Amino acid sequence: MLIVQKYGGSSVADAQCIKRVASRITKNKNEGHEIVVVVSAMGDTTDYLVDLVNEVTENPGEREMDMLLSTGEQVSIALLAMAVKDLGFDSISMTGAQAGIYTDSVHTKARIKEIQCDRLRDELAMGKIIIVAGFQGLNHSGDITTLGRGGSDTTAVALAIALDADICEIFTDVDGVYTADPRIVSEAVKLDTISYDEMLELAHLGAQVLHPRSVELAKINNIPLHVRSSFNLNSGTIVKEVDNMEQAVVVTGIAHDLNVARISLFDVPDKPGIAWKVFQALAEAHINVDMIIQSAMEDNINDISFTIGASDLSIALNLMDSIKNDVGFSRYTWDDSIAKVSIVGAGMATNPGVAARMFGALAKNNINLDMISTSEIKISCTINNNQAVEAVNALHKEFNLDKN
Ligand code: ASP
Ligand code: MG
Repeated sequence: MLIVQKYGGSSVADAQCIKRVASRITKNKNEGHEIVVVVSAMGDTTDYLVDLVNEVTENPGEREMDMLLSTGEQVSIALLAMAVKDLGFDSISMTGAQAGIYTDSVHTKARIKEIQCDRLRDELAMGKIIIVAGFQGLNHSGDITTLGRGGSDTTAVALAIALDADICEIFTDVDGVYTADPRIVSEAVKLDTISYDEMLELAHLGAQVLHPRSVELAKINNIPLHVRSSFNLNSGTIVKEVDNMEQAVVVTGIAHDLNVARISLFDVPDKPGIAWKVFQALAEAHINVDMIIQSAMEDNINDISFTIGASDLSIALNLMDSIKNDVGFSRYTWDDSIAKVSIVGAGMATNPGVAARMFGALAKNNINLDMISTSEIKISCTINNNQAVEAVNALHKEFNLDKN
């Protein structure tokens, strides 16, 4: 079998961890498999690098940001390849560029365009264990790009697809995908399987266990993912296509996201093309907009509120200043002390009353709702961020997720 494995930052946090991962990899190699490993930066290295930038400048520029953040993974691939060789196996480390990973040019949020696998295949044919730097690639001008925080998962899935791997294993520090973040919900239960669609919603809604783009790629190419712990041999959660018969439960999981900010525009003229101008400006700056709410119109003016990732807030506020006169709104407010809590479940589409149950559970805990949005298989609302833990626990109970 050809196996692609990804080890996250906590699995390679120090020398001891790196040696443990090396021995796990070599055991799989001894079982007769071909192995391609993707690794993240050690522990909190990437956070540390971001903090360092903040001490140096407010305007790092995205190209230089990628140049810096990509170094974290270069450290871990080299050390892991050394540890594997130390165990008597042939191994080679490769940066994204050396592995033939080409992306578009959107620095800090690049998307993989193609992977030229010739070198990878040659090295595999020579029997080597290949260790590839996650989260990075090369654009067509020859500059290093990164795929967005947590992007190593996407590197792994993209490599698995390009190499036509038999399986893609995502190793992390938890046993799999849980009904809610086990760090804040003690009754959270590990799921044995979850559908791509539910996982995609959970990943977008703040569950940090998988990078959303990796789930999207896996779904499009129908490649199952096995999310499991690198600290034990337990089997984890399989993310795959699940047919409707199996989707008996209404709510599969609860997600929360503290990295959210809301911007509200007031007295926006009610005429065609206005929303387009606002959201076009955000799109051109590559800012992902999540919830959008336009309230009932009065006197030909509207209020529009939307949410974005908190890390995009300062860029978005600058943009609002620059389009204010052209768009014609009178003023704006913003709030980054909010959290988004969401319930996700494929069974929701066919079961009425789910929203009422959600809002009821929150009301009983005196939690005020700010914005609300829904899709076929999820309901999200924003609340004050200091009530997020309470909200997630209340919803976990309401939908009996501890009894899975
Ligand atoms: N090291 C990068 C990050 O921390 C990429 C990753 O871990 O997947 O975001
Ligand atoms: Mg990481």
